[in-house]
Amino acid sequence: MSATAQAWTCPFCPLTCDRFQVDVDAAGALALSGDAECPLARRSLAGFTASSGQRTTPCLVDGRPTDLPTAIAAAAQILAASRQPLFAGLGADVAGARALYPLACATGAICDAAGGAALMQGLRALQDRGQFTTTIAEVRTRADLVVFIGGLPGDAAPLARERLGLRDALARHLVVLGPAAGDEATLAGWAGGDVTVESIALQGDLHTTIALLAAATAGRMQATMPAALQALAARLHAARYAVLVGLPGRLGAHGALVIEAVHRVVGVLNRKTRAAALWVGGGNGAATSNQVYAWLSGLPLRTRAGPRGLEHEPHAFDTARLIADRAVDALLWVSAFDADALPPASDLPLVVLGHPQQACACARAGSVFMPVATPGIGAAGHLFRTDGTVLMPLHALRSEALPAVDEAARSILAALEQRRAA
Ligand code: SF4
Repeated sequence: MSATAQAWTCPFCPLTCDRFQVDVDAAGALALSGDAECPLARRSLAGFTASSGQRTTPCLVDGRPTDLPTAIAAAAQILAASRQPLFAGLGADVAGARALYPLACATGAICDAAGGAALMQGLRALQDRGQFTTTIAEVRTRADLVVFIGGLPGDAAPLARERLGLRDALARHLVVLGPAAGDEATLAGWAGGDVTVESIALQGDLHTTIALLAAATAGRMQATMPAALQALAARLHAARYAVLVGLPGRLGAHGALVIEAVHRVVGVLNRKTRAAALWVGGGNGAATSNQVYAWLSGLPLRTRAGPRGLEHEPHAFDTARLIADRAVDALLWVSAFDADALPPASDLPLVVLGHPQQACACARAGSVFMPVATPGIGAAGHLFRTDGTVLMPLHALRSEALPAVDEAARSILAALEQRRAA
């Protein structure tokens, strides 16, 4: 079947690449055009079958197929009966997040993204000490030293090398501090021309290593400092523009301490030269929802807009903790991008605005499943890129019969208001 190539912005990882085209055949099946290659994009596109955008994936109530108005009414009923709902996942674009916020206000819902813990690590470090961060374009055009903290981005951002310009002719030194399995071989393959590479093992764990690097950069502990970190500190001072790249999602429960230590390194360097951090994360709409909630409420996620006003609890309003403690009595889960981002297991009344492939996994008694269009596939939209300053427009590749998250959220809010007025 002949296919039409369309320009595309990919919504499937925090890099939101806009360099590829996608072939859309007459039945609506999607594939990367030509020799373009990204395993994550290719796999994600394959999840949108020719029929998935039609209403062959029906809404489900209690696991049984039904129509959209019935599902909306059932979702409104769940939220109306809840004394403390939780809106989680939040895999939505700007318009979706904007529409979820008034629904959260109307129901007093607590809001937390999938990967909310990693999001909070970065926010805590920012709130406590501030930060110097940079953009993908700045790294590509200016960085002469790039240090990957705790491993290369790998599967989390498959085209990081290309997007950061590490294939370009600019002379650079690339360092992986604390390589993961396979990183040394990968990095060795990135060397060539004016690009040199280096792998430095951890001294103890990542926390200890980055604390030592911060001390070395500040000129402390010189007598006892491991030689490799002393040399890296000297290299950082000598660089014209050093960038430290990390993934908050990999840093674990106390990742904020690693992030703060990286920011200390950057802060010291910026007294005499130029340096910045680049944090890769917040994909699948998490960072976008956080930005939208921050500008609408003045507070980041893990916030409740309830009868007591706004309450922000970065620890207590954690999805897993709230469900385990039975501190919430209904869950609205949003996942428009990632078919694998399923709602956490629970027996709570459940509303899912989800990727069509999630239907089977979400079918159970007490649940409402509404398939939604994915921005960048079946709907237009906007996502913030990982560097947080660039809002990427997403264009629909094909027309779909599914509602987008914003339409679904607005319909549920209207049904809820109708119930309350009746
Ligand atoms: S690197 Fe990320 S944004 Fe770029 S094509 Fe691959 S999945 Fe999409």
